[in-house]
Amino acid sequence: MALKNKYLADLLETVKKRNQGEPEFIQAVTEVFISLEPVAEKRPDLIEAGVFERIVEPERQIIFRVPWVDDNGVTRVNRGFRIEFNSAIGPYKGGLRLHPSVYLGIIKFLGFEQIFKNSLTTLPMGGGKGGSDFDPKGKSDGEVMRFCQSFMTELCKHIGPNTDVPAGDIGTGGREIGYMFGQYKRLRNEFTGVLTGKGLTFGGSLARTEATGYGLCYYTEEMLKANGKSFKGQTVVISGSGNVAIYATQKATELGAKVVALSDSNGYIYDENGIDLDLVKQLKEVERKRIKEYVNVHPEAKYTEGCSGIWTIPCDIALPCATQNEIDEQSAKTLAKNGCYAVSEGANMPSTPEAIDVYFANNMLYGPAKAANAGGVAVSGLEMSQNSERLAWTFEDVDGRLKNIMKEIFKSCDEAAKEYGCEGNYMAGANIAGFLKVAEAMKAQGCV
Ligand code: NDP
Repeated sequence: MALKNKYLADLLETVKKRNQGEPEFIQAVTEVFISLEPVAEKRPDLIEAGVFERIVEPERQIIFRVPWVDDNGVTRVNRGFRIEFNSAIGPYKGGLRLHPSVYLGIIKFLGFEQIFKNSLTTLPMGGGKGGSDFDPKGKSDGEVMRFCQSFMTELCKHIGPNTDVPAGDIGTGGREIGYMFGQYKRLRNEFTGVLTGKGLTFGGSLARTEATGYGLCYYTEEMLKANGKSFKGQTVVISGSGNVAIYATQKATELGAKVVALSDSNGYIYDENGIDLDLVKQLKEVERKRIKEYVNVHPEAKYTEGCSGIWTIPCDIALPCATQNEIDEQSAKTLAKNGCYAVSEGANMPSTPEAIDVYFANNMLYGPAKAANAGGVAVSGLEMSQNSERLAWTFEDVDGRLKNIMKEIFKSCDEAAKEYGCEGNYMAGANIAGFLKVAEAMKAQGCV
């Protein structure tokens, strides 16, 4: 889909020139600009205030060397990133991704998306993201610890509880956050809520582990309800088998669905009896094994090599929870052909633009990542509140707040879509609602 608004089309060309070799970032900006066309028409004051130009340029980009020593005494060097994208409505907030595919363009797309997602949560958090091309897979605990300590030795100069508060993402779970928090505390000699997703014994929030997956299901249930449907009795396919996928499986099952497939970067399992989640947790969270081990315990289930085949499994609802661009046009067509009527995104930008076109062409319900997966950062925001007041809330309290936040997020996507003439297009609604709050704040704060 091409941009019709000349002002935004010209600005997109500038963004492309300035960010060459970063296709994921261009993809994310293009999607948002397409959604914002009616806003640009209706709000010339935001154009005058330079909000569009400023919002696509990170406030600060930090790139640094991360040297560490492996178990054989060999020096290794990775590259670290932190993009402090936008602080109009609060301290920068967003996760740290540790994966070999990480480079500047990935972190920038994630940081850009984070601005709108954080705005949608209604909590005061700006947008940021970081990470490294370090691969925790196959590394010993000691190696992961030394990497995390080296990473934080530089990062600690740039973050703080009122400045920038990182969290987890792909490859960064409780173990990594613990090592990073320990190093921050040691270097700065202060015990503050500088990271979220911390362990429960040192300032972590109950329900943070579950938050993104649970939140995804709460959002999706609202979307289904608004369209006369629910999870009850539905067959669901979920990609990934990490933090988001595991807790999405748990909540979807609690809400009455049958989850029949999960994957990792090697392949996927299909269990038509419904996934045995206790086994997946044991394999993935405790033993850090591959998903194919599942069939050793459940030989009636089937394992297939390769990731994209998971979308050929017939289902009613698809929840992509692995990584960016994992559903392409062909996979989207296959989903539609097999009767899938709803796609809701746990991962960030898991659908290519062509796949999204297929969803709309087939009248499928589409829950976009920046709304549907905002539960993780929302509970991170609640963790920051608990740290500030030196209190710990109960699981039920946090989970209840999460549920309300996800309901509100769906409502604002729905209402913004209606107000700007694209009813039912929750992607446009999310982009518009998330943008407007940040844009008003940027305008009010002057040209900074
Ligand atoms: P995890 O590292 O816990 O799990 C990631 C899962 O996705 C693993 O099963 C992994 O397989 C798979 N995966 C990762 N990269 C690829 C790839 N290139 N191709 C195929 N499969 C891949 O990460 P999370 O569950 O935390 O994150 C999943 C997604 O959700 C990401 O897009 C993340 O940005 C997003 N997200 C996460 C939030 C959170 O709170 N954790 C919040 C909001 C969004 P393998 O083990 O083989 O690598």
